[in-house]
Amino acid sequence: MCQLVRKLDTLLGLASQNTDTFRRLASWLVGNRLRILMYHSVSNNSKDPHAVAPSRFEQQMLALAAKGHEVISLGEGLRRLQGRQSLRRYVVLTFDDAYRDFLTNALPVLERFGYPATLFVPTGLVGGTATWDSYDPTKPLMDWDELREVHRRGVTIASHTVTHARLTECDERQLEYELRASLDTLRVRLGDVFPALSYPGGFYGPRERLAARQAGYVCAVGVASRWGNGTETDPFALRREKPMEFSRATLWSRLGSRRNEVNGDCLL
Ligand SMILES: [Zn+2]
Repeated sequence: MCQLVRKLDTLLGLASQNTDTFRRLASWLVGNRLRILMYHSVSNNSKDPHAVAPSRFEQQMLALAAKGHEVISLGEGLRRLQGRQSLRRYVVLTFDDAYRDFLTNALPVLERFGYPATLFVPTGLVGGTATWDSYDPTKPLMDWDELREVHRRGVTIASHTVTHARLTECDERQLEYELRASLDTLRVRLGDVFPALSYPGGFYGPRERLAARQAGYVCAVGVASRWGNGTETDPFALRREKPMEFSRATLWSRLGSRRNEVNGDCLL
C-alpha cells in the first residue's frame, strides 16, 4: 500500500511539473487512449516467450469483440490521434518480424473477425529466419510471395528496418540505410505500403525519431507501455502493449508500467 501511495505521489508530482504528463494522466483516467497491441509469433513455440499460442490468440480476438472494442488500422488510428477525435475503445493490431506463422495462424483468425492489422517486415531477412532472436533464431519468416499474398488479403505492410538492427547503435550512414532502403524495397516489391516503422527491440531516441521522419515515415511504434496514446503522443514514439497484459490492465499494473516506460523496456 505504501508503495502504491509513493507511486501515486510520484505521478502527481510529475503531473504538476510536466504538461504532457498531466494531459496523459487526464486522458488515461477518462479512458480516451488509443491502444496498440504488439504481437510477434503466433505459434506454440515453447522457446519463445513472446509467442502467443494460436488458441490464445483466437480468445484474445474474441475478447476484443466481446468487450466492445473496435479494431482499426494503424493509419486510421493515426488519423484519429492527429484529428483529436475520440480514441476510446479503439484498438490497433500490429505484428513484428513477419513470421510465417502470421500467414498460417494469425491471418485466418483476423479475417474471420474482419480485423485490420499491420505487419512490420525486416526486408533484408525476408525468406530467412529470425537470426537476431536469442530465444529461437530458427523461426521462419515469410518470403516475398507470401508477403504479396498477405498484402493482397488486405494486411498493411510496413518497415521493421533492413537487418533488424538496434538503431541506437548504428552510425548515421547505417541508420539512414536501415530506414530508407527498407521502405524503398517494400515499395518496389509490394507497391502500396504504409510508411510506418517499428523500431527493432524498441530501441530509439530523439536521433532515431528525427531520422525516421526525415526518411519519409509518418509514424513509428515502440514497445511495452500500458499508457496507450493520446494527443500528447509523438507519432514517432507510439506506445504499444503486450497482448497478455491487455486483459488485466489494472490500476496497479498500469502504475507499474510507468517504471518500464521511463527506463526503456527491451523485448527482443
Ligand atoms: Zn522485431
